[in-house]
Amino acid sequence: MIRKLISRVFGGKKAAASHHEPAVIPVSSHGITRDRISSGSRRVCETLQENGHMAYVVGGAVRDLLIGAEPKDFDVATDATPEEVRRAFRRSRIIGRRFQIVHVMMGHETIEVTTFRGTLDANTKKDEHGRVLHDNVFGSQAEDAARRDFTANALYYDPTTEAVIDYHHGVGDLKQKTLRMIGEPRARYREDPVRLLRAVRLAAKLGLIIDPAARTPIREMAGLLENVPAARLFDEMLKLLTSGHSVKCITQLRDEGLHHGLLPLLDVILEQPMGEKFVMLALANTDDRVRRGKGTSPGFLFATLLWHEVLAHWEKLKAAGESKIPALYQAMDTVLDVQGEKLAITRRIAGDIKDIWALQPRFESRAGKRPYGLLEQPRFRAGYDFLLLRAESGEIDMELGEWWTRFQDADGEERAQMLLPEQAGDKKRRRRRKKPAADSVDHNSPE
Ligand code: ATP
Ligand code: MG
Repeated sequence: MIRKLISRVFGGKKAAASHHEPAVIPVSSHGITRDRISSGSRRVCETLQENGHMAYVVGGAVRDLLIGAEPKDFDVATDATPEEVRRAFRRSRIIGRRFQIVHVMMGHETIEVTTFRGTLDANTKKDEHGRVLHDNVFGSQAEDAARRDFTANALYYDPTTEAVIDYHHGVGDLKQKTLRMIGEPRARYREDPVRLLRAVRLAAKLGLIIDPAARTPIREMAGLLENVPAARLFDEMLKLLTSGHSVKCITQLRDEGLHHGLLPLLDVILEQPMGEKFVMLALANTDDRVRRGKGTSPGFLFATLLWHEVLAHWEKLKAAGESKIPALYQAMDTVLDVQGEKLAITRRIAGDIKDIWALQPRFESRAGKRPYGLLEQPRFRAGYDFLLLRAESGEIDMELGEWWTRFQDADGEERAQMLLPEQAGDKKRRRRRKKPAADSVDHNSPE
């Protein structure tokens, strides 16, 4: 045990130097045969290797295969420059972001190919908090490995030899279910505070324990997230919320003190008993959809996250004498103006969010032609799913959700019988005879 600890401490020191020899782990030991790799990424590696380059499947895919999970995508890392990669594949294009990468199209796969990154040095441009701004120096494979965030993410798989190249003891850490930062965690979080979120997301998603050295600083460094461009935070939040493990992620974010400043609305929501229940139900619902391979819409997700804030504004406006529907629209705009900017919610997603919210009061009309009109709305299904979450969380009467569940499935005659008498605006509207409650309400049925 102690010997292991000592070797880890010294091993860690050596790792930081980034020029040490990697462990080359044969297939007989890790068991990942090349047929486990997507055919597209295999062909990309083979072609680059035939052109005299190094090329490996890298990152999340190798990690996921080693723990027996299904990789989301297969990325490739190479010593070829982006221009050399582009020339090697007819269907490819260079994508210029912080760091140039090449998208290679193989059948219906798109493989992301990155050139090995070099070590950050004194010339690297950083902001006043130490966040790396420009990062476009190429380097060796060892340098590339040292630039990755966690040891489990710094593994390279060669489809030709079927060996895993491991510079930072990633395979061993994975075996021990540990997410370990490469290098000094505080420095790595300063370089890129999004790693704070990645640590939580990857640990929750993969069932790993964050190594104490990487976990301890999270709380104290959470403030660095305020300095990250909103669009990047939005991307990471979306990954987190659609990971299929969002409840675990959010719970852990809160435990690590990471929701402050990151999703300011979570502060508000998680402190309201009704709001928290609603958000957690919505997230559990999304997780379930993701795990069953169904699509999720960012609009729906963010509509749920912000709903209780809309409700609070709506109530205030109504109390101040504003009439119901204009008050709702005003509340929606206020919330989207404030949170939309903070969270970098795109215009298109904001439109989807508004559609879902705006449908909500329309579910209250159960007389005349209106319910039929609502059924024809293109966003009816999303609006209805949202309504059911409101009912399940206790915000509104379950009976309203159940009525809509029955109304959708009913035939023409039944529907006509279900309609309430036309008495718009009458609060003491007479309810029809109570129908037995439906056993289970399925708001996940295919759209
Ligand atoms: P996922 O399963 O969500 O795709 P991932 O680890 O593959 O997780 P990606 O964002 O696809 O995440 O990144 C691919 C690889 O790039 C990572 O495995 C890691 O090696 C490296 N990487 C990504 N983001 C960072 C970062 N912020 N800092 C350092 N390395 C990173
Ligand atoms: Mg990935």
